[in-house]
Amino acid sequence: MLSRRFLAIIVALMLFANVAVLTAENAYLTTSVEEIASSLPAKPIAIGLDVDDTVLFSSPGFQYAFNNTDGPNGSNKYGDRPLSNDQFWSDMSCSFDKFSIPKESARKIIEMHRDRGDKIYFVTARPEVKGEILTSILHREFKLEKHPKAIFSGRTSKAVFIKKHGITVFYGDSDSDISEAHEAGVRAIRFMRSPLSNNKGKYNPGKHGEIVLENSEN
Ligand SMILES: [Mg+2]
Repeated sequence: MLSRRFLAIIVALMLFANVAVLTAENAYLTTSVEEIASSLPAKPIAIGLDVDDTVLFSSPGFQYAFNNTDGPNGSNKYGDRPLSNDQFWSDMSCSFDKFSIPKESARKIIEMHRDRGDKIYFVTARPEVKGEILTSILHREFKLEKHPKAIFSGRTSKAVFIKKHGITVFYGDSDSDISEAHEAGVRAIRFMRSPLSNNKGKYNPGKHGEIVLENSEN
């Protein structure tokens, strides 16, 4: 009886120890738009931003992908794996982005870079589609004129496009945004995902030792 209690205490201690380790693993430093601005060189640079959950809250379109009943007999019109369905990606980038909400934190970052005269690229891992409206929505919402069209990197690492366009600062919410920017040898800054996002992609702020933009959930 006594040994069982002893065992329970040991298990409890181990559980607490794990919690502490996990917390330490996710520790990160935060930064502000002002701090980023003052760290940049005086002359204009090229910067890049991921799209989903970085500059746009695009969960409405993904909500429809996962939960619609508009297929035959009330099934999902995109099948069992909507994210593997080409029609979904076409609908998303050609139509559903009308329902995506620009993030206020992104407005501030983009405004700062725009006013410096920086060249602003958007690099999304969505697959390339014909007739996308994403570029025009981003340019209209963030008041960008004469900036490059959105890049749809698909299965190619974003590192390829970061290098190709001389991007020196890259912003993103996903672990892969950070690791691919590092792969390209440039500075990566993490955006927080909104707590309401339905994005289940890997998201561990601070995982790659990167700094996190404060108040960037929304
Ligand atoms: Mg993203």
